[in-house]
Amino acid sequence: MKSNSAIRAVVFDLGKVLLDFDYGIAARQLSRRSRMDPEPLARLLSQSELICRFETGRLSAREFFDEVRAASGFGGSFEEFAECFSNIFTPIEPMVRLQERLRREGLGTFVFSNTNELAVNHIRKAYPFFANFDGYVLSYEHGVMKPDARLYEVLERLAGRRGGELLYLDDRLENVEAGARRGWQAVLQENPEKTMAALRRLGVLHPDGSTGRAAA
Ligand SMILES: [Mg+2]
Repeated sequence: MKSNSAIRAVVFDLGKVLLDFDYGIAARQLSRRSRMDPEPLARLLSQSELICRFETGRLSAREFFDEVRAASGFGGSFEEFAECFSNIFTPIEPMVRLQERLRREGLGTFVFSNTNELAVNHIRKAYPFFANFDGYVLSYEHGVMKPDARLYEVLERLAGRRGGELLYLDDRLENVEAGARRGWQAVLQENPEKTMAALRRLGVLHPDGSTGRAAA
């Protein structure tokens, strides 16, 4: 059984695709040693102009820490902050197994994430699966974030693939749409079950869950 799919590589968003996360965990811990309540602190850490500057590499980790400290009055060290800020992830196991299977059966796999240096340092140490991709496009290393087309171009160059050769999984609609505009096979991740069903429809996974490529 050979896969009919034209897909040669699978592009994974990280947050809410491979790793669940909750900035509330960090905000509650940091809040205890700050003058800010957990809710505004969570917004500062996850949806502010400040985090955007950090995730496009315009702030170093130290500079980000200094800004958060100035805004919140956090009284701990940089190391304590880094630990609280980055220890917010939980692997989404069916998706971790999916990547492992796709890779074993010969598809390229890539990480494509709006993220920052502190999160990635933590993820590298905490989750061995993160080492097992063919390449990584991380927003803070390139100065732009999804859905900016320039980050998608970086991925295409790195993978040596384009258009319908790429299958793209992301939980944010604007990111998925930007991929679809380039002709990528883009799937909005709502939950792992729906993503698996989409992969079967696209011929990447067979109904028994294999890709059909190993037997080809
Ligand atoms: Mg995401």
